[in-house]
Amino acid sequence: MISLARLLPVFVHGDTLGRRSGLSDEVLARRVKQRRNTLCLQFSSYVCMAAVMSVYAYGDIIPKVMPLAFLLSGGVATLCFLMTSQLRFNDHFHDHYLTLVQMAANILLQTSFLWLAPQIGYLFLCVIFMTFTFATLRMTMWQSISAWTLITLGLACLFLMTDLRIGFPATSFLERVATVLLVSSTIGLFGVIGFYGSALRHQLYQGKKALREAYDRIEELAEIDDLTGAFNRRSIMRKLSHDIARSARLKRACSVALIDLDWFKRINDTYGHPAGDEVLRTFSITAFANLREVDSFGRYGGEEFMLVLPETSQSEAVRILDRLRLIFAEIDWSGLSPALTISLSAGVATWHPSETTEALLARADAALYSAKRSGRNCIASAA
Ligand code: GH3
Ligand code: MG
Ligand code: MG
Repeated sequence: MISLARLLPVFVHGDTLGRRSGLSDEVLARRVKQRRNTLCLQFSSYVCMAAVMSVYAYGDIIPKVMPLAFLLSGGVATLCFLMTSQLRFNDHFHDHYLTLVQMAANILLQTSFLWLAPQIGYLFLCVIFMTFTFATLRMTMWQSISAWTLITLGLACLFLMTDLRIGFPATSFLERVATVLLVSSTIGLFGVIGFYGSALRHQLYQGKKALREAYDRIEELAEIDDLTGAFNRRSIMRKLSHDIARSARLKRACSVALIDLDWFKRINDTYGHPAGDEVLRTFSITAFANLREVDSFGRYGGEEFMLVLPETSQSEAVRILDRLRLIFAEIDWSGLSPALTISLSAGVATWHPSETTEALLARADAALYSAKRSGRNCIASAA
């Protein structure tokens, strides 16, 4: 047998094991306020309905006591939901509005009065349509199916087991006005719900776009070295592997250069670490300004950088690096010291078919070492 405890989650959408954890008091208080507003709106709709019913009671279509009875029943139902909300019983459930339960209570109220006052049955039918449509905005598919089944069963009982004649009052002018207003507001409400749906779709699209942009930005940040804006070591290594694989595929050349700033430790020691940082940043900007779009520039570590030059022969790479060396050597460092010049050394190696990236880098590193040994401020080619 299906126990109530297993059925309940279907009706209230979510866990019944206790108050949902992780919600601050502020959020819980806001939820109470939201529920109170919804219930106020619900009660206002009962007042409006009672007012429309009064028009028909005035024309003796329904008993005079009916509007008051309706208002009282609606008031009691609203009060009960208000109490559960204020006591925060609702917060035990995922759908803290208890949409399905509230909707079931409202439908029960409407069908009861449909049975009691079939002369104005169209009014209750309109409200049943509206209630169901509104509730589906918050319900899960299974809740909607359950709600639809309940409504169908209730209406089937009324229509098949009784000989109710659903009225559409149009005796006096006032009644005709009330009838037209109610039908047109029902149709208007469907329009509002359609509009709400498209606004939600737009909101979702915007949210997805913002998320995509944030994700792209995070990906970009994860690839970039904070200080210099160059690719970080992991990214430049990935670019190197990618460009070598491409060169292997297209049978094209690919060169790599390891660049090291000369006597950099002295700059740190003499002018301080922040000045050293500024030199690294300036070198990076200089490199960016003088590279081709296909080239990749990254910080290999400390004051050592890597330049990947796809589709570039060794002599061409040496020429590019020498040009960069000359430009960097001409930078005016008078902000640090009047006669200061800073130079770089680099080792260039061109990929041999079937050579691993490690072997290629080892050759570039050996070339850099020989550039340093040759007195620095020069570019050396790997064997
Ligand atoms: P060489 O010409 O042989 O390359 O001499 P060098 O002084 O440049 O080489 P060494 O490897 O002795 O010194 C590198 C220095 O770079 C040491 C380290 O403190 C400094 N360094 C590494 N990373 C940073 C950084 O992010 N900022 C600053 N300011 N200095 C750094
Ligand atoms: Mg150095
Ligand atoms: Mg170094």
